[in-house]
Amino acid sequence: MKALAKLSPEPGLTLTRVKKPEVGHNDVLIKIRKTAICGTDIHIWKWDEWAQKTIPVPMHVGHEYVGEIVEMGQEVRGFQIGDRVSGEGHITCGFCRNCRAGRRHLCRNTTGVGVNREGAFAEYLVIPAFNAFKIPDDISDDLAAIFDPFGNATHTALSFNLVGEDVLITGAGPIGIMAVAIARHVGARHIVITDVNDYRLELARKMGATRAVNVSRENLQDVMDELRMTEGFDVGLEMSGVPSAFSSMLTHMNHGGKIALLGIPPSNTAIDWNQVIFKGLEIKGIYGREMFETWYKMVSMLQSGLDLSPIITHHYTVDDYQAGFEAMLSGQSGKVILDWTR
Ligand code: NAD
Ligand code: ZN
Repeated sequence: MKALAKLSPEPGLTLTRVKKPEVGHNDVLIKIRKTAICGTDIHIWKWDEWAQKTIPVPMHVGHEYVGEIVEMGQEVRGFQIGDRVSGEGHITCGFCRNCRAGRRHLCRNTTGVGVNREGAFAEYLVIPAFNAFKIPDDISDDLAAIFDPFGNATHTALSFNLVGEDVLITGAGPIGIMAVAIARHVGARHIVITDVNDYRLELARKMGATRAVNVSRENLQDVMDELRMTEGFDVGLEMSGVPSAFSSMLTHMNHGGKIALLGIPPSNTAIDWNQVIFKGLEIKGIYGREMFETWYKMVSMLQSGLDLSPIITHHYTVDDYQAGFEAMLSGQSGKVILDWTR
């Protein structure tokens, strides 16, 4: 079958042919329709330090997708051939304490589809049926293909009550922008998002931000004064992984504020702990999506009027994958979709 793989330890990916995967007793075989390019795939493309120590070579990658179940193992229950599914990319062990307690997102033995094992940038993908998630008919293939990052945004944004709260989001990447739309949907008051990229800030405005602030030109305190925010933000969602963005967030939180951290900063990043202690801040780290609470919330929010469609800015066929990756690399994009059916 066709697949987009890292064939040698160097930048780029190659459209190649690999063996179609075998279906185990508890697995489903998914015929891929559409995939999306994740920031992680960009790290893999660039072959940075993280990718070099994480990604086996040769291997095909990718973990944002929608497709159709075309084969199932004999033990699989609850699915049918023809079901349209996306899937949870974190494969959990099932036997650690957290797995057994139903807190699968906290499994200490998690492996990643398209990171530690073969991925979804292929004509077919095998995953445990446990990880498959059925997509209702009223949700488009495009949106279904981005449930993985939409899930990161949802898990982070719904970590704390946002109703009537003033929310600061640092980082207007695709995930930060989706978090804006979610915060608006669930009833936040002011939603201020920061970045240094005007294209993405404009997209965030379109998706419901009260103010989209380019911190290379504007001062966050001026924006807060303009909004008559005299005390600070109630909730912070860190979605850039940039240390200066996080420290600015700490400075502008109200006392008792709550912060969810999704962005991955360089290791050993220092912060001003006095801000955390004397403000009594609550900080929560976020990894992946809750299985499967986050997935149900995503469906419910889309079915109750959340409009994420502007986040999908580019479409390519898989044969044009180079152009798709270039769009992502340029920073002048939201989500980029690759079509495997044409
Ligand atoms: P992205 O790289 O597309 O977005 C990050 C954004 O931060 C970019 O638009 C960049 O311009 C912006 N930025 C740069 N400097 C900034 C500054 N000083 N202030 C504010 N913003 C600034 O990433 P993404 O795909 O949207 O993901 C967001 C973050 O979440 C990344 O750090 C990613 O690694 C991380 N992530 C974590 C998990 C998890 O499970 N914890 C899952 C997915 C992604
Ligand atoms: Zn486990």
